Amino acid sequence: GTTDSAPDDPVIELADVTFGYTATPVVDDVSLSIDPGEYVAVVGPNGSGKSTLLQLTLGLRRPDEGTARLFGEPAHRFDDGDRIGFVAQQASAAKDMPITVREVVEMGRYPHVGFGRLWRDDREIVDAALETVGMAALADRRIANLSGGQRQRAFIARALAGEADLLVLDEPTVGVDAESVAAFYDLLESLNEDGITVVLVEHDIGAVTDHAERVVCLDRSVQFDGPTAEFVESDAIRRAFGTAAALAGDAR
Ligand code: ADP
Repeated sequence: GTTDSAPDDPVIELADVTFGYTATPVVDDVSLSIDPGEYVAVVGPNGSGKSTLLQLTLGLRRPDEGTARLFGEPAHRFDDGDRIGFVAQQASAAKDMPITVREVVEMGRYPHVGFGRLWRDDREIVDAALETVGMAALADRRIANLSGGQRQRAFIARALAGEADLLVLDEPTVGVDAESVAAFYDLLESLNEDGITVVLVEHDIGAVTDHAERVVCLDRSVQFDGPTAEFVESDAIRRAFGTAAALAGDAR
């Protein structure tokens, strides 16, 4: 990487971040620090500012007030994009690209080879990434001909091939069939165990209570930030998702 951040710097650090598309803030005085190796779920009702917060975090928007830092650098100036694997919702345009799984994963190597040709070591890294996400057998399939869950795995493999140490996922299992969802979260968990920081924006509160260690519940401002076990017992989960959702979380 080109950054000179220390290994113990927070991966993400928001300090008193306020942002509005109009005069009314949709993200209001949010402070948040995420350390290397954490698995954090960002939850909240529709329109609570989750996507906006993600854009601020990744430096795609700049705070009106406060500061956003990524790997110790101002987020909007951070330019070591291969450290970050971003997995968007299924609806993203990428799914119609006329390219194979392997080609998608190879893209993860391009920044490492100055966008020149891939060497044998790069191909080995690509193969290992395909293996890790369970897509080796489907490497020559076109992205367009995959199931939703398989496609998301391919995008994760691209991030792994790029040696990302932060995975940011925005409701990654929308439109993914139920059987594949569980396997997808298992994959995230094992990547996290390997040391990758995971930030998961999620509406599926069950998935969150099953997998994440820490929950940040947003509703313009931070309503809760702490261990998942405490979140399921909190007033915040009931305010954000209603009693039924809270009970479903408890029952898991
Ligand atoms: P969430 O991801 O939690 O659904 P968003 O961050 O998408 O929340 O939206 C927060 C608020 O900001 C909502 O009221 C939404 O309508 C508004 N908003 C989101 N994106 C834009 C935009 N590009 N322009 C204007 N308003 C927006």
